[in-house]
Amino acid sequence: MAVKKKSSGQSASIAIEDPAAHEPKLDPRHCKFRLRLAPSAIHRWGVYAEERIPPYRKIIEYTGERISRREAKRRGERRLHYLFTLDSYWTIDGAVGGSGAEFINHCCEPNVQSQVVKGHILYKSMRWIEKGEELTVDYHFPHDVEKVPCACGASACRGTINLKD
Ligand SMILES: [Zn+2]
Repeated sequence: MAVKKKSSGQSASIAIEDPAAHEPKLDPRHCKFRLRLAPSAIHRWGVYAEERIPPYRKIIEYTGERISRREAKRRGERRLHYLFTLDSYWTIDGAVGGSGAEFINHCCEPNVQSQVVKGHILYKSMRWIEKGEELTVDYHFPHDVEKVPCACGASACRGTINLKD
């Protein structure tokens, strides 16, 4: 399972300073099922299934600008929810050229999981997902960075998006 990590520091010369300014949209070229963006009770926008999705199917690729660990740090915590740590060096910034997968919210009991295949981040269904259901993934923030409260509402909610120590 790939890990989404937060990094600290201030962004400097990037075009999009505020994550809220990142216009929510889905790129149909990367969607394998009919999906829809809509406001979410979990956090701002969410991605919803517009048709029933069987288990273990590729739903959408998480795309974005490929940046180094140092650059990810520089872009900082304001873009927390759009930075996906691919490996020990590369991070994908979904706020730049994102497919819309960056709007999939965290949940402690998710219905989607990420899989890294040859440098591509694929979001796959973990079970049947009903039409109208919000897609969620476990961001797996590390335990040793600033704690981010979780509002996923799952019965097994950890209380934070970070993993427990
Ligand atoms: Zn939770």
